[in-house]
Amino acid sequence: MTTPDDDTAEAAPSITEFRARVRAFFASLPDVLAPVPGTVQRGKAYRRALCDAGLAGISYPTHLGGAGLSPDHDTAFREESLGLLPGEDALFGLGLGMVVPTMRDHASDELQQRFIPPALRGDEIWCQLYSEPGAGSDLAGLTTRAIRDGDEWVITGQKVWTSQAHIADFGILLARTDFDVPKHSGITMFALPMHQPGVTVRPLVQMTGAAEFNEVFLDEARVPADWVVGDVNGGWGLAVALLGHERTTLGRGQLTDDENKSKAGRSPLPFSGLVARATDHDRLGDAVVRDDLAIAYTGEQLVPWGTRRRLHPSVGKLWRTIQGRHCAQTAHLIGGAEAMAWEPDDTDADYWAYHVLNCRGMSLGGGTDEIQKNTLGERVLGLPREPGPDRNTPFSDLPRN
Ligand SMILES: Cc1cc2nc3c(=O)[nH]c(=O)nc-3n(C[C@H](O)[C@H](O)[C@H](O)COP(=O)(O)OP(=O)(O)OC[C@H]3O[C@@H](n4cnc5c(N)ncnc54)[C@H](O)[C@@H]3O)c2cc1C
Repeated sequence: MTTPDDDTAEAAPSITEFRARVRAFFASLPDVLAPVPGTVQRGKAYRRALCDAGLAGISYPTHLGGAGLSPDHDTAFREESLGLLPGEDALFGLGLGMVVPTMRDHASDELQQRFIPPALRGDEIWCQLYSEPGAGSDLAGLTTRAIRDGDEWVITGQKVWTSQAHIADFGILLARTDFDVPKHSGITMFALPMHQPGVTVRPLVQMTGAAEFNEVFLDEARVPADWVVGDVNGGWGLAVALLGHERTTLGRGQLTDDENKSKAGRSPLPFSGLVARATDHDRLGDAVVRDDLAIAYTGEQLVPWGTRRRLHPSVGKLWRTIQGRHCAQTAHLIGGAEAMAWEPDDTDADYWAYHVLNCRGMSLGGGTDEIQKNTLGERVLGLPREPGPDRNTPFSDLPRN
C-alpha cells in the first residue's frame, strides 16, 4: 500500500512559499464563491478550487488526488487557514477528516482509488452510519445486519443522528455480519451508496431549528461485495480508528468563518468574534467579560500546540466541547437580553443564538464527554476497564432491550 508521502513532488514549495500560496488562495476565494448559489454547490466549488490550487489532500499522494507534500505543509495550511475556512468546509469534515484517512490506512488499493480522489475534490459527500437507537456510546451493540447475497451485501436496520445523510452520496457503515461471536468480533465496515431504493432518510429537527442530522432506515439496501473496508468481521478495529480520526479532526481547533457569521460546522466561536461582540455592546471594560475573554483566548491558543504535540485524540475532542460551551456562554453573557429575544430578521442575533444552542450537541457528537474521559482513563492512565460479560459472550446470547 502506498504511504502518504511516497510520491512527494521533487519541486515541493518551501514552507514560506506554500504559506503565501495558501494566503493568496483564501484572499481570492470570496470572488470564486460569490456567483455560486446554494450551500452544497458552494461547498463543491470551494473544494474544486482548493484542488486546482494544489491545496487539497496536502500530504496525500498525487495518484490519489492529493498534493503529495509533507506533513509540515499540512500544518502550515492549518495555521494559515485558521478562521478563514468557509462554513461550507464543514460539509466535507466527515469524508475528509474520518473516512478518507481510514480508507488510506485500511482499504484495498481499488477502494482507495475509487473513493479518495472524488472525496478530496469534493465531488462526493460522505456521512457516518454508526449510531443506532440502541447503540450510541455502546456502539459495539449495533444490530443493523449485513447478509451476503451473491455479488452484493444486503443491509437491513436503522441508524440515527446521521449528520448530513440528506446530502450524502455515500455512508461509511457499520453492520453486524456475525451474531454468534462476541459483539466486537462480528462487525464489518462498508461503503454504502446512499442514492438507492433501500435507503430512506428522514430529517430530525434540532433545537437550533436546523435539521442537520437524520434517521436512516435501511431496508434491504445493497452494497457491492467488495466494498468492504478492511476484512469481513474486522470492522471494530477500523471503527475505532475512524473515531480516532474523528476526535482528532474535531479537536484540532478549526474555527468558524466569523466574518460571514456562518451557522454551519461544529467549531467553537472564535475569540476575535467575541471581542467584536463585546466592543459592539460596550462590554469590553466589564471585568467578568474580560475574564471570560481571557479564558477563551487561552483555550484558542492552546489547541494548535496540543495538536502539534500529538496528544491523545480524546484530549482535543474534550477541549473543543469545553471551549465551544465557554465561548457560546460568553457570547450569551455579552448579548444580555438580546441573546434571549430578537426580531426575526435580526440575522446577527440569530447567529449568536445558533451557537449557544448548538454547543450542547457538540458534547455528544463524536462520543460524549463521559466516553472521552473513560477512554483517557483506560487507554492513557491505565485504569481498569469496567467489568462486564459482553467481551467473551456471543452477541446473540447477550441480554438486550
Ligand atoms: C450533533 C450530533 C451529531 C451526530 N452525528 C452523528 C453521525 O453523523 N453519525 C453517527 O453515527 N452518530 C452521530 N451522532 C450520535 C452520537 O455519536 C451519539 O449521540 C453519542 O455517541 C451518544 O450516544 P447516545 O445519544 O445514544 O447516548 P447514550 O449512549 O444513551 O448516552 C446517554 C448518557 O449516558 C452517558 N454514558 C453512556 N455510557 C456511559 C459510560 N460507559 N460511562 C459513563 N457515561 C456513559 C453518556 O455520556 C450520556 O451522557 C451525533 C450526535 C450529535 C449530538
